[in-house]
Amino acid sequence: MNIEKKILKNHSLKTSNTLGFPASAEYFLAVKSESELEAAVDFAKQNKLSVRVLGGGSNVLMAPQVDGLVIRIDIMGKRIIQTNAEADILSKEAVSIVVGGGENWHATVEWCVAQGLSGMESMALIPGRMGAAPVQNIGAYGQEMKDIVVKVRAYHLETCAFVVLSKGECRFAYRDSTFKQAPGQYIITEVELRLSRHQDDNVRYAALQSYFAHKGINQPNIKQVFDAVCAVRRSKLPDPEVLGNAGSFFKNPVVTLAQFQKLKQQWPDLIAYSESEGYMKLAAGWLIDQCDWKGKRAGCVGVYEKQALVLVHFGGGQREDLLQLAKDIQDSIFTTFRVQLEMEPQLFPTA
Ligand SMILES: Cc1cc2nc3c(=O)[nH]c(=O)nc-3n(C[C@H](O)[C@H](O)[C@H](O)COP(=O)(O)OP(=O)(O)OC[C@H]3O[C@@H](n4cnc5c(N)ncnc54)[C@H](O)[C@@H]3O)c2cc1C
Repeated sequence: MNIEKKILKNHSLKTSNTLGFPASAEYFLAVKSESELEAAVDFAKQNKLSVRVLGGGSNVLMAPQVDGLVIRIDIMGKRIIQTNAEADILSKEAVSIVVGGGENWHATVEWCVAQGLSGMESMALIPGRMGAAPVQNIGAYGQEMKDIVVKVRAYHLETCAFVVLSKGECRFAYRDSTFKQAPGQYIITEVELRLSRHQDDNVRYAALQSYFAHKGINQPNIKQVFDAVCAVRRSKLPDPEVLGNAGSFFKNPVVTLAQFQKLKQQWPDLIAYSESEGYMKLAAGWLIDQCDWKGKRAGCVGVYEKQALVLVHFGGGQREDLLQLAKDIQDSIFTTFRVQLEMEPQLFPTA
């Protein structure tokens, strides 16, 4: 395969990151098959180039100049596979699907909803591609990637071989996984998910409950939950096509129960959710809001006026502008609450 002819040099990544930061890749290739991926990695090894993998660019903070070869996974395809005997014993309603790493996440959710399959409907409208979804174990409105993953197929850059990781080997945690812990080691090409014809009880979130109360719907079906999530998200989050952003910029910090109780005494309105025994997850958006950041602008970047957790790029700025704003916010939260905020999007390339 003559892959060299397909590789682009000094390719702009400005429209390949939802923050819209100007960036250029030394080499760039969108791969459409696993054999193209192997050939691309071979090319990089022969030319001593670093390999970077990109999806839809909705969770990255792009450097102005990205050296090495940037590979975007464009491997498509989704199919329902026979539920295996074990799954049948567990639940007659389980259905497995296999999805290519390049498939658009939201379009896949929509497709599953149309087949009457539950498990992803609350994660509608999350931007990006299937291959990136396991990386930070995406989640929204009570559903999480870890709850539906069966296995992940990936190219392992150290051994130069395709491997299949079971759900356990993916080591999913809150916005975390093996893939995030070992950046640059795995390139995900395909994901197997297990969904159900039986609907999840996923209408526990206040925003969804008030949407259904307003519409007079008591027991929403899968499609109605999907529509509700889309409506709520559209009202709260900026569309990256209109205003550059990477969704939630900070993770919700996890603190000990003792630390939470101390904070709650001082800040009775503090919003928090129980995380695991002895730990609480604080609403990062609430902390940022209390420090008066919502709607603040710092040149070309700022804090979204409707949601303090979302940092935005108005245009004409660079990644460094946003990193400075993020640091100022982190410092002010630490000074006020003694809580450290951690960034959710990843530096691209990783530092
Ligand atoms: C408006 C908005 C709303 C959002 N809402 C949510 C939300 O509700 N919940 C949530 O969890 N996230 C949310 N996000 C974050 C983001 O959409 C998800 O993290 C998404 O999965 C990123 O997908 P991507 O294809 O854009 O990945 P990219 O941004 O391209 O990449 C993210 C990371 O994954 C790596 N990567 C990408 N593809 C692969 C692959 N095939 N194999 C191995 N590594 C890979 C990259 O190297 C990078 O480190 C939101 C973002 C935006 C802009």
